[in-house]
Amino acid sequence: MVILKTAYKFRAYPSQIQKSRLHHQMSLSKQLCNLLLEQSQKHFKDTGKTFTKYDMNKWITKFKRKNPDFNELHSQVCQNVADRVSKGYKNFFRRIRERKQGKKVRVGFPRFKSYVSSLTYPQDNGFKIERKRISLSKIGRINFVNHREIEGKVKTATIKQTKSQEWYVTISVEKDDVPIFSNNKPQVGMDLGLKEYATLSDGTKISNPRISNKSIDKLKTIQRRLSKKRKGGRNRRLAKIKLARISEHIVRQRGDFLHKTSHNLVNSYSFIAYEELKIANMVKNHNLARQITDVSWGNFIQYLCYKAENAGCKVVGVNPENTSKTCSGCGNIQDIELSERTYLCRRCGLKIDRDLNASINILTTAGLAGSNASGDVVRPQLREAVVVESGTKFGVSR
Ligand SMILES: [Zn+2]
Repeated sequence: MVILKTAYKFRAYPSQIQKSRLHHQMSLSKQLCNLLLEQSQKHFKDTGKTFTKYDMNKWITKFKRKNPDFNELHSQVCQNVADRVSKGYKNFFRRIRERKQGKKVRVGFPRFKSYVSSLTYPQDNGFKIERKRISLSKIGRINFVNHREIEGKVKTATIKQTKSQEWYVTISVEKDDVPIFSNNKPQVGMDLGLKEYATLSDGTKISNPRISNKSIDKLKTIQRRLSKKRKGGRNRRLAKIKLARISEHIVRQRGDFLHKTSHNLVNSYSFIAYEELKIANMVKNHNLARQITDVSWGNFIQYLCYKAENAGCKVVGVNPENTSKTCSGCGNIQDIELSERTYLCRRCGLKIDRDLNASINILTTAGLAGSNASGDVVRPQLREAVVVESGTKFGVSR
């Protein structure tokens, strides 16, 4: 059985009373989270064992009895806090193991939280979705803009306040038994880049939408002003909100582009292969405008994956080894400088755009494409196993 995980995000408008309840709950949930971290550390020191989710929930029950204030937190929200803390610990121990095996990973102890800006209600008993409202237990019925039909089995609801003080409700769902079919469109390899947003192996280039200079100038001005404001002061707080509002605006514009582009792609192709690690490597830049660009690759792949299923398309990540260095014509491998925009093969003489060459190699690496003598691409077998996306939240799982 195939399960598709998707999430819907809606703008929400809590009332003043609801906002203060939400803030109160977030503060309780922050305290609880830090207490659990503390307990886990203590438990580990005393016994050398992990403080399991079961231990946590038992501890919470006892703790609540002594601290009735915490009864205001919905039990499901508490459980979700425990879930998150225990996940953090599991990741921590996994990374220690990986490091022992010689992998280069950063190992950090789960950190104490200075703030919590979201509450998650797992399963559908702490919340109820109505037409224009979502009713959250212990908070009330919150108005939200329900602009899309919610399809599938509702799993969790998360309410979050952004840095610019806007509220959003995210509802995650699972859809069962989505039929796997092919839209019988062509297949492509896709090279993600800085110069062009994406280059496809059929020669299509998707240009990078420029973030308007106006937005960037504004961003820089406010950032400069912010640095001069007194720490902890009211003006600094207001400037911070303004800054967040502008960057969120840019991110939203970017999101529109990503949604449209991914929608067009999954409806134009039956198979899309991309380079997996490139995305992870690129999210390391300090320039603000670049940061926004960088982050969007991960989101782009997420959007592609969850839109693909219903459009009869398959999205596959491949190992990026040598995709730029290999000649797509004869398979020769030679070094190519980052600055070189054209690949010139020293063996067969092929002269081809650098990104186009890479995208063809990505399709070949996906293992499903073979070029025949006439250069036609052989269509992949779409009825075969579904590819499980690693590293993406909205992948396909079985
Ligand atoms: Zn060649």
